[in-house]
Amino acid sequence: MTFDAIYSSAMDVLNKLSAYERFGPETTVCVLSTRSGRIFYGVSRVETVNGMPMEVHAEIIAFREMQAMGETAVETLILLSAVDRSPLIPCPNCAMFIMQSGDNASTTVALPDRMIRLSEIAGTPAKKPVASKGSLLKDKVGDLMSVMEDEDDEDEDIEEEKPKKKKLFGLF
Ligand SMILES: [Zn+2]
Repeated sequence: MTFDAIYSSAMDVLNKLSAYERFGPETTVCVLSTRSGRIFYGVSRVETVNGMPMEVHAEIIAFREMQAMGETAVETLILLSAVDRSPLIPCPNCAMFIMQSGDNASTTVALPDRMIRLSEIAGTPAKKPVASKGSLLKDKVGDLMSVMEDEDDEDEDIEEEKPKKKKLFGLF
């Protein structure tokens, strides 16, 4: 699918959703086309995993919807900020997950200036957060809570950074 085709599918989805849903500034929407020509979408949301609220990315929701209908091969996907409707690059975790859950190394990701392969994103090492909320908090309470430092470090490793988006947790 071309950028224009998938973007216009994504606009149809966003227009329908906007009629009854209010999006937060961090909400993303992913629209994907399968090799068989079907369109699926997902909206990022918070799910409770082991009693903890975890942000589930839109790419994963869309991919699950697709799998539920018996499909595994994604031709093209686009990820958008729900509010300003600008395309975003999926995170490496989601790219890796989708690649490994089907024959999707050649799946294309639609960006305004180019189409890139999912494998190019998955191959990018995750950027280390420079200053996360977790580390700032740790500096403040470090003396009092030195016992918990190991746990804090693990939390930082789970955290991921996206350009334009700030997330406390990333469940891919
Ligand atoms: Zn992701």
